[in-house]
Amino acid sequence: MRYKLLAVAMTLCAGSLALVAQRPLADVGPDYPIRPVPQAQVDITDEFWARKLEANRTVSIQHVFDRSEERGGRAPAQLIEAAGDMLSKRPDPALEKRVDDLIERIAAGIDARGSDPEAAIRTQGTFLEAAVAYYQATGKTRALEAAIKAANAIDASYGPGKKTYISGHEGLKIGLISLYRQTGDTRYRDLAKFFLDERGKDDYPRQGEYALDRTYAQDHAPVVKQSEAVGHAVRATYLYIPLADIAALTGRPEYLQAEDRIWTDAVFRKTYVTGAIGSIRFHEQFGAPYELPNLSAWGETCASYGNVVWNHRMFLLHQDAKYLDQMERVLYNGFLDGVSQKGDRFFYQNPLTSYGNYERFDWINTPCCPPNVVRLIASLGRYVYATQGDEVYVNLFVGSTARLGSEGRRTVLRQETRYPWDGQVRIAVDPDAPRRFSVYVRIPGWTAETVTPGDLYRFTDRARESPTIAVNGKTLALRTANGFVKIDRQWQAGDTIEMRLPMPIRRVLADPRVRDDEGRVALERGPLVYAAEWPDNGGHALNIAVPDRAPLTSEFRSDLLGGVEVITGPVEAVVRTAADASVRTRPHRLVAIPYYAWANRGMGEMQVWLPRTADKARATPIVPPRPIATVASSGGIEKKWTGYNDQNDDIAAVYDGATPLSSADESNLYFRMRPAVGQPAWVEYDFARPVSISSSEVYFADDRRFCKLPTSWRIVYKSGDAWKPVVARDAYGVAKDRFNRVAFDAVTTTAVRIEVEPVTRHYRTGEIGPPEAMFLARDIDWREFGLIEWRVK
Ligand SMILES: [Zn+2]
Repeated sequence: MRYKLLAVAMTLCAGSLALVAQRPLADVGPDYPIRPVPQAQVDITDEFWARKLEANRTVSIQHVFDRSEERGGRAPAQLIEAAGDMLSKRPDPALEKRVDDLIERIAAGIDARGSDPEAAIRTQGTFLEAAVAYYQATGKTRALEAAIKAANAIDASYGPGKKTYISGHEGLKIGLISLYRQTGDTRYRDLAKFFLDERGKDDYPRQGEYALDRTYAQDHAPVVKQSEAVGHAVRATYLYIPLADIAALTGRPEYLQAEDRIWTDAVFRKTYVTGAIGSIRFHEQFGAPYELPNLSAWGETCASYGNVVWNHRMFLLHQDAKYLDQMERVLYNGFLDGVSQKGDRFFYQNPLTSYGNYERFDWINTPCCPPNVVRLIASLGRYVYATQGDEVYVNLFVGSTARLGSEGRRTVLRQETRYPWDGQVRIAVDPDAPRRFSVYVRIPGWTAETVTPGDLYRFTDRARESPTIAVNGKTLALRTANGFVKIDRQWQAGDTIEMRLPMPIRRVLADPRVRDDEGRVALERGPLVYAAEWPDNGGHALNIAVPDRAPLTSEFRSDLLGGVEVITGPVEAVVRTAADASVRTRPHRLVAIPYYAWANRGMGEMQVWLPRTADKARATPIVPPRPIATVASSGGIEKKWTGYNDQNDDIAAVYDGATPLSSADESNLYFRMRPAVGQPAWVEYDFARPVSISSSEVYFADDRRFCKLPTSWRIVYKSGDAWKPVVARDAYGVAKDRFNRVAFDAVTTTAVRIEVEPVTRHYRTGEIGPPEAMFLARDIDWREFGLIEWRVK
């Protein structure tokens, strides 16, 4: 039966790209109560998104194809899904050829491997998911047939009573469930559930880092017993998405309850105001509750992709708009900043503060994020509307036309809006014949008192104005349930819903347990989080303070960043005088831009969480405290380990005058070195003329992860051509979380160095020991230490 169904669908649609009716999904029994309106039935027409979709189609997808292929590699499977969505909107023979060639390469690989399950299981779930999406969009069957072949091979060897497998990456389940929804073949659903249930059991041999830290891949406990968002954040969302699916497909409460517990933990304690998740560099993982550093914020773009999809699934499961509020927050902020305005540069990390040494990349060695950006933007239509029988949900405010329902019961919705700049939304509801049904319109939580569900963030003021909603000019009482206004009436052609969402500028504060945000305020307007960036603020952004009473206004600037609403107002800036390095406060005209638009004008300072008082602002220009070096340099160690664009890591850290919060303070710059065994590690100050010095204070980094306190250190100074140790009067301490001060007999010199002996640790176990046997033999010694600050007097 299941094959028959698929065969019928294939015959009808094979080779036809012409017009996209939704390819029938199998009637699969219990599933989400609400269904998204397929992307093919939604045309996006507004200023804001239509342009982004066009850049995505003409620039971004080509960029990802080009960069993947020019290194002899293969473009990622996500592009198949994205291309399908694009082709369902307009013919593009060149793109179609390119993606069909890609499908052919992947499918031929699957054919060649026959039914080798070991190979098939490593066919990332993204291909299975993409194959279904491509078939849905284009009717072409090559990818889908290959996906079925791969899934069947896996099913033949894995499952209850057969082999088990716990993948380090969790996307396979998403793909299997897509395949089940398409074909109705329950084997794929059952296999997805099997893999989900196996996770966290102890009878499967784990290897390498998966064995050492099982939270890394959410493998520390059976999924139904999990309660916290932990481990690698992208992997986490790739688990929570199919967990929602399995909850919907089985109706079993233990899945739903686990999902709700995890979501609550993530949203109430571990999400940035931009909606980004996975705050910690080490293992790209969720931090501890409230551990949300701004400068080192990881917030991978892929995790934002997953977070959008996860929250969408949570809405389909619970029919509650709070999940859509969260989805919108991620989409417009922590996700959208992942791609440049032109569409050809991408972020991997999405920090909330920049000292000016960070920008989007053209390409990197781990290019996971760009294809996720491309596929989410291409599929945006899928997230705008949903239906339950005849009932219609308006989830996002995006100018668009949606064709809903089936023959004889069609309704066309036309949404017009300047969102996110303006909260006026007009929705024409046009049924093919007069009919009674309900339209549910989301009223975002930010129009009232909810920044995000829970207490992690709060507005400083109460909303002064309420949204209004009218049908055919007649105002309705604003009664919401689960975040929606329900409009139940006899609809007929020409009916119009008019809504107004007031968009005042709101100030946001974080829970005091978020140390990095203490004494700071974030600015929002509508769904957008704002940031101060250097080009609009006299070359700096970290020196700005926004007093609570400063009146803020907004205005639209069509000439800026493709047209953005900016927030402006009289605030303060602190400056350090060149003459004596003293700090003073002067009036400043703030210009804040939407966060998503930062880093499109070169590298420079940026800040989301702005100090409320001048004492928290960072005086610029940075002048080293006196008497200090004119130049600092390091021990000549090439910093080739910085695989990612690690913007915390800068030699300026040692002399920037900052006093860190702790040795693990990721809100400040630090300077890290990874010398090999036997290689010297030093940092040097050079003085313009001889100075007399007699003490030194050093604050070491210890981030509890990579970077450890050193074994020992000492001060040497330049005497003629030689370096001589100073005569220390104190022991050289290596204490954590404070300055280690040493006084010594005064020397007069033109250069001074700190020489450091780092500890050697085993890369995986963290075990500390002598380097020779254990470490060097396996070539995995790990010697990283860092300075957050070093002062000499
Ligand atoms: Zn990524």
